[in-house]
Amino acid sequence: MPSLKIAIIGAGPVGLSLARLLASNPAIEIIIFESDKSPEARVPGGPLDLHPATGISALKEAGLYGEFLKYARFDGEALIICDKKLTKYVNLPGGDAHSSRGRPEIDRTALRNILLSSVPPHLIRWGCRLRFIDENRRLIFDHGIESGYDLVVGAEGAWSKIRKLISDQMPNYAGLTGYHWKIPDAKNLAPGCYKLVNRGSVFSYSDGRAIMGQQLGDGSLNVYTYTPWSVDWKEDAPFDLHDTEAIRNALLEEFHEWDPELLSLIRHGQDPNLRPLYMLPVGWSWENCPGVTLVGDAAHVMTPFAGEGVNLGMQDALMLSRAILKASKSPTPETSLPAEIKTFEKDLFMRAEETANFTNDMLTWLFFTDGSPSSIIEKLVLRMTTFHEGGILSSLTYPFFAISVYVYFAIFRLWYSSIVIASAILRFCDCQLTSCRVQESA
Ligand SMILES: Cc1cc2nc3c(=O)[nH]c(=O)nc-3n(C[C@H](O)[C@H](O)[C@H](O)COP(=O)(O)OP(=O)(O)OC[C@H]3O[C@@H](n4cnc5c(N)ncnc54)[C@H](O)[C@@H]3O)c2cc1C
Repeated sequence: MPSLKIAIIGAGPVGLSLARLLASNPAIEIIIFESDKSPEARVPGGPLDLHPATGISALKEAGLYGEFLKYARFDGEALIICDKKLTKYVNLPGGDAHSSRGRPEIDRTALRNILLSSVPPHLIRWGCRLRFIDENRRLIFDHGIESGYDLVVGAEGAWSKIRKLISDQMPNYAGLTGYHWKIPDAKNLAPGCYKLVNRGSVFSYSDGRAIMGQQLGDGSLNVYTYTPWSVDWKEDAPFDLHDTEAIRNALLEEFHEWDPELLSLIRHGQDPNLRPLYMLPVGWSWENCPGVTLVGDAAHVMTPFAGEGVNLGMQDALMLSRAILKASKSPTPETSLPAEIKTFEKDLFMRAEETANFTNDMLTWLFFTDGSPSSIIEKLVLRMTTFHEGGILSSLTYPFFAISVYVYFAIFRLWYSSIVIASAILRFCDCQLTSCRVQESA
């Protein structure tokens, strides 16, 4: 007989990871309520890079790492970080399973399918949009009221209804509005874009704006543009929000100083989707509310510029599953559970604050700092390395590493400026030569 009844709201990557980690334990009864009508109702979007200490570690504990490897794209680790003139400050090649830097990409659809097929189908109730949770933890859906759970887990993303029971805190506009585009069959239909993205990612930043391209496993590219438009720009947008060509023209105008190779990502894009970015305040936490908790974006939605959201969320799922399993093994599971949840939340607040701080640094430096990315590239590389490889860099080795980073970029700038000067001289000579030839022939 199950001793604990758990309701999970939301079958995103985090809710499904939690379900998978708990489903095989006969002492625990779980049910997932998902608003999508079916698994096919929505195409889940772009690629995600999973990290060893968080996302991948959750998949390993869930016994799904082997399955993950079938779909992981190690060549997707190819990465360019550049500015609007396509100055490549970071230019890393893709890898394979052996040369991997530990952050393979996986398409959201593949990850969702892996997780979905690992959870018994009868545990997911599709087409159940939670409207409201009342103070007695009764869940109000369109189809009726569900109740009687020892724990309700809000895993339903940024606009969580469960969070409303815990706090009035809503996500804030992050100051950037995105358009997400698709380029199908890029190799044949947009070979220049395909070559630029190099089967991985190209992230270009300048003047508080960004153009990004990412490869997906089905041969398509995802393209993202981000602009610092105001939160209510939609009301007075100077173009028709439903007209693809009007959106494209507005963005080509907005990015008119950018390199043509980067602009070709916008030129070839299809089906633009508007995506303003929202985030919870860095360090946001809540007072423990008996019988209810949050995981994933519901607990800590942040901007995507550190690529940590799903990783942190899957780690939440891992930690919460351990807490629930521990309580289930005690002689009185219902009375042990609240203490385990409090401990879980304390740990979540620490992990989330650390990751949100890192993400916020990326956001501030890349979008809201003059001269970015050139002016911040050294501290960006150092911050990224210490966040991911903090354990390897001791207080003794860090100064040497930091000096090498600064020396590398000093040489890079010298080398890059000399190339710019040399090509300007060549262009000048070429012009002179052409005008001499024109005069001679005249
Ligand atoms: C452009 C972009 C790129 C990103 N790239 C990365 C990356 O590379 N790496 C990374 O780690 N993170 C990345 N992220 C962040 C990542 O997408 C999220 O952190 C992750 O999807 C959160 O998962 P989740 O399960 O908590 O929520 P979600 O993915 O939002 O899933 C929530 C689920 O709940 C359902 N739901 C919503 N409301 C209700 C309701 N009322 N009742 C029932 N069900 C409901 C939804 O249909 C959905 O299935 C990116 C985000 C964006 C926007």
